[in-house]
Amino acid sequence: MTNKQATNQLTVTKTFFPPIEEYQTQIQRIWDNQWLTNRGALVLELEEKLKKHLAVPNVLAMTNGTLPIQIALKLFGKGGEVITTPFSYVATTSSIVWENCTPVFVDIHPEYLTIDETQIEAAITPNTIAILATHVYGNPCNVEVIEQIAAKHRLKVIYDAAHCFGVTYNNQSIFNYGDVSTCSFHATKLFHCGEGGAIFCQNEATMKELFFLHNFGHNGPLDFYGVGINAKMSELQAAMGLAVLPHIDFIIAERKKVVDYYNTQLNFTQLKKLKIRENTQWNYSYYPIIFENEAQLLVVQQVLNDNNIIPRRYFYPSLNNLPYVTKAAMSVTDSIAPCVLCLPLYVGLAESDLERIVRLINTVITSVAK
Ligand SMILES: *Cc1c(COP(=O)(O)O)cnc(C)c1O
Repeated sequence: MTNKQATNQLTVTKTFFPPIEEYQTQIQRIWDNQWLTNRGALVLELEEKLKKHLAVPNVLAMTNGTLPIQIALKLFGKGGEVITTPFSYVATTSSIVWENCTPVFVDIHPEYLTIDETQIEAAITPNTIAILATHVYGNPCNVEVIEQIAAKHRLKVIYDAAHCFGVTYNNQSIFNYGDVSTCSFHATKLFHCGEGGAIFCQNEATMKELFFLHNFGHNGPLDFYGVGINAKMSELQAAMGLAVLPHIDFIIAERKKVVDYYNTQLNFTQLKKLKIRENTQWNYSYYPIIFENEAQLLVVQQVLNDNNIIPRRYFYPSLNNLPYVTKAAMSVTDSIAPCVLCLPLYVGLAESDLERIVRLINTVITSVAK
């Protein structure tokens, strides 16, 4: 493929690049400070700005969005069973297995696509330690019911909130729910540091333990709280975050325009869209469409690919089918995951391209109607 074709390709997402002068201003500060990592001025400033922007009591910046999940599982999971969703990115399940815990899958709700809270209690055993659920596509889980179940059975709740930057539920940050929430600041995510992530926790004592865990277990230079790992965010990552953050309202507003276009222009007689949970201020992070069957999806995907449009099958195959987990049939996930296609959604997606995407999809689904 030539470079020209590559640049003409419409991919599912495109990284937001802030104006380079704004990035250079942040990088210059690093040179002035002669300080690259170990929680320097830029990381501390980014944390303060995130706290304000998101209205959360605590945030700890990390080097990616996977280590916060692993660190939370290290603290809470203790090698036990962790109830989790099969419909998420692989990092949700791989973190459980990596921490020597056992994933116990619970099927998803057919419209919200988040873990089906009504099936959680049946999956609890004496070995269950925690629930690790994903607010998939930024759509909140039923946090109230999950909280009740967790309290009743004394379980910890960790939310993989990798997709949730800026999402509020009941007028507060979705990161304020659960014992711990994690986020990813990867280049493909709404807010990004190139690579990066964060952990959120309301409880000060737990936050302190998470802090020790993310920095080799250090409690001061010579003293150790316990075993730890290195998950620190560097100043270079924070520089990107500080350059992107001032544009976040613009990023979300531009994405909303794309979502509004899809919502009004796609022919939903044979397609379904994601149902966003009530009382949610969503962040327009992904645009999944749900076909009636996989055959339809494959035909549409092929036509789009032939036209240089590259949507992605997030999340397929579902995680209950990973080669390293005990296979468990999940009727809803197994029937829906093969039918979900995420459409291009990013800042700068031209209206003419949007029109083309919608026209192709609407034409194809009408012609392949069963
Ligand atoms: C992106 C993502 C992660 C991992 O985040 P990284 O920053 O790439 O490590 C975890 N969970 C979900 C649901 C994700 O989409």
